[in-house]
Amino acid sequence: MDKTKKLWKPFSDVLRKALPSTCRLEASNYNYNFTSRIRLLSSSFSSSVQEYSFGRRQLSSENLGFCGRTFCSVTAEKVHNATCWNCNEAPKAVPFLFCNSCRSVQPVDHSVDYFQIFGLEKKYEIEDENLERKYKDWQKKLHPDLVHSKSKKEREYAAEQSARVIEAYRTLTNPLSRAIYILRLEGVEVNEEETVTEPELLTEIMEIREAVEDAADSQALNQIQSSMQEKLIHWSNSFASAFRNRKCDEARICIRRMTYYRRVNEEIAKKL
Ligand SMILES: [Zn+2]
Repeated sequence: MDKTKKLWKPFSDVLRKALPSTCRLEASNYNYNFTSRIRLLSSSFSSSVQEYSFGRRQLSSENLGFCGRTFCSVTAEKVHNATCWNCNEAPKAVPFLFCNSCRSVQPVDHSVDYFQIFGLEKKYEIEDENLERKYKDWQKKLHPDLVHSKSKKEREYAAEQSARVIEAYRTLTNPLSRAIYILRLEGVEVNEEETVTEPELLTEIMEIREAVEDAADSQALNQIQSSMQEKLIHWSNSFASAFRNRKCDEARICIRRMTYYRRVNEEIAKKL
């Protein structure tokens, strides 16, 4: 029993530790203004348009909800930067983070999500091999060092845009962070303080803890680490399937598992 008790705290630490990279999500990221979404999507992602281009009758909560929830529909103050703040040109590409006409960095538009920043379809599996190149391309345009001689306003825009692109890249390239983020985009929050209740997982947690504590050498720790890696891949695939099938509870379970296994790997890495 003592051992079980011991596990509660570390596990909530686990979740807290796993979340910082995604906690800074802006509230507007979870809110949807469908008119603007459709406009943004239709100008950039032809494959996604169909998903959102329902007739008005079809825009029901049933179609838009995830796990019986509905997206929050709000009137966004500003859905995207309509024109360049500097030269007043209309954007030639979406998302509009940078003006190609006058080469000035635009203010952050929080209605643009991380997937849109990289021109990705909003789905869990990322198949874009060019993600890193796209990330570097953005940084070549937005990096604060590139605007050091410009106005204070633009330097601030560059600092914010650059930080957001880094955060977007970090979030999307990490399977766990990406899972939490994509659920949040659907209006589903993952409670980081939620305690583990599944008996099966509790037993497993105890066994893994014991194995880590009893590991005699780095070889034994490496073995546990690769077993955790396999579990991470397995639960990441399960999350993908749960998300595709809009099974909210299953998706949450997958996130809890991934959070735990990642934490074990972090602990092992410290010991190695
Ligand atoms: Zn401009």
